[in-house]
Amino acid sequence: MIQIKQVNKNYGSNNVLQDINLEVPESHVYALIGPSGAGKSTLIRSINALENIQSGEIIVDGTSVHDKRTNINKLRSDIGFVFQSFNLYPHLTALENVTIAPKQVKRIPKDQAVEDAKKLLTSLGLGDKCNSFPGQLSGGQQQRVAIARALAMNPTVMLFDEPTSALDPEMVKEVLDAIRGLASSGMTMVVVTHEMGFAREICDQIVFMADGKIVEIAPPEHFFSNPETERAKDFLSKVL
Ligand code: ATP
Ligand code: MG
Repeated sequence: MIQIKQVNKNYGSNNVLQDINLEVPESHVYALIGPSGAGKSTLIRSINALENIQSGEIIVDGTSVHDKRTNINKLRSDIGFVFQSFNLYPHLTALENVTIAPKQVKRIPKDQAVEDAKKLLTSLGLGDKCNSFPGQLSGGQQQRVAIARALAMNPTVMLFDEPTSALDPEMVKEVLDAIRGLASSGMTMVVVTHEMGFAREICDQIVFMADGKIVEIAPPEHFFSNPETERAKDFLSKVL
């Protein structure tokens, strides 16, 4: 479970997060949507302490993320993060990209890490790509390796920041399918996305942000057919 309480963040005089309150219950999937500059990336990056905050608190499964006593490596291994750009190690194979953190951070024996990674890659349709280097894979395949790499740490929460926006259109579906599979396995997730059809289909709640604030939170069937604010109506008229 993710609890975000009264969070504020500024860059100079720019209030990029203003009084953000949000609770994502276990096994729920929340979409973060909104116009460019709304603060979506800043908020999702704050959840695993990639960003500092000025005030408020974020708690993930009981751990206060920005508390100085929090073990940041442990926190980050419990929270999988998948970025728009895949950030794979170019000199490592798909399999090695997936096994490196379990071996080095979690001290999982090599044979076990390899077996687990092969299962994960196979479950994501990449069983025949274990020995390929990132440069030999398509964007969609690389993004699925990035998802496998995050899952290899056995996270309790997965965060995605526009996981399909760097992909050619024909590769979007394979990555969304992978995320859809995770959703049905009961993973707690927050997904920043511009894929409205996807958000509508798999997310329990739509969180609409603009100008550093959460403007609306509603179930997709409600949000997309009956947005309550002018800001959301205006946004939807541009993206739907
Ligand atoms: P997009 O849809 O374009 O990705 P976003 O909703 O993810 O937008 P953020 O990247 O969170 O928006 O940015 C929110 C605000 O914070 C913007 O006004 C941005 O200019 C500002 N901002 C983000 N990162 C920094 C930074 N490192 N230094 C200063 N300002 C920043
Ligand atoms: Mg962003």
